[in-house]
Amino acid sequence: MRRLSVTALILASLAVPVWAQQDFSAVEIETIQVSGNVYMLVGAGGNIGLSVGEDGAFVIDDQYAPLSDKIMAAIADLTDADVKFLVNTHYHGDHTGGNEAFGEAGALIFAHDNVRARMSTDQFRAIFDQSIPASPAGALPIVTFSDEMTFNWNGDAIRAIHVAPAHTDGDSILYFHDANVIHMGDTFFNGFYPFIDVGSGGDINGIIGAGYRALSIANEDTAIIPGHGPVSDAAGLAGWLDMLKITRGSMQSLIDGGMSEDEALAARPTAEFDEQYGGGFMKREHYTRLLYQSLSSN
Ligand SMILES: [Zn+2]
Repeated sequence: MRRLSVTALILASLAVPVWAQQDFSAVEIETIQVSGNVYMLVGAGGNIGLSVGEDGAFVIDDQYAPLSDKIMAAIADLTDADVKFLVNTHYHGDHTGGNEAFGEAGALIFAHDNVRARMSTDQFRAIFDQSIPASPAGALPIVTFSDEMTFNWNGDAIRAIHVAPAHTDGDSILYFHDANVIHMGDTFFNGFYPFIDVGSGGDINGIIGAGYRALSIANEDTAIIPGHGPVSDAAGLAGWLDMLKITRGSMQSLIDGGMSEDEALAARPTAEFDEQYGGGFMKREHYTRLLYQSLSSN
């Protein structure tokens, strides 16, 4: 009996998206040195980028609110300096949940204009039947930009570059020029199908475009931090983009042939990649449906 109930519990926990398994008490923050003074922090939610140096700490994304103390402790292990600047790559809660705590601790929060706009209002994610309430005022980005901006900070030039609608309509990628690191936000899920958040203006063509924008900046030594998954490089990103282009082409053929979304799902246009990329929280069905919706709305 006991063994059965444990099995049932495990099966139940596998049935929900990663971000709904919110046992944050068990989460530990892992710190990975990416290049020079640039680090990646991994806990639960999107990968955090961090630059430390004499000017202060510069943070990209901040996971979930219950993790803020642990994240701040991990940063304090690397530097005595305060977090001065925080940039959100996009509005999703697994990247912005710590905003209020970091803001109260003195960080100035930056993001694309649409991040503040979406965080200011209730959102609905149809693919997961999920309502997302507006964020409190203290969590909202203070400084917003429409195209790009540069932080001359810790001896580096850190560019925040807005890309055309991709994962959402408010994505930015961050490029550390001297450290030669790019943080992609959720325009790159390393090892998984992407989440094309079509309800938030996301677009598969934009995700592919963001990847090529990054590759136009990168060289073979560039470290590429994805929104989720391990650190990659230009070759790794290029391989993932190949998969996106092939599945996009397969889906476009089905749409051109007049298939409905359910018919396209049954036709399994992603079959050759499902084993390699379907193991994240974006399952085959999610990716296939969102790919259909994205290409149908063009
Ligand atoms: Zn996201």
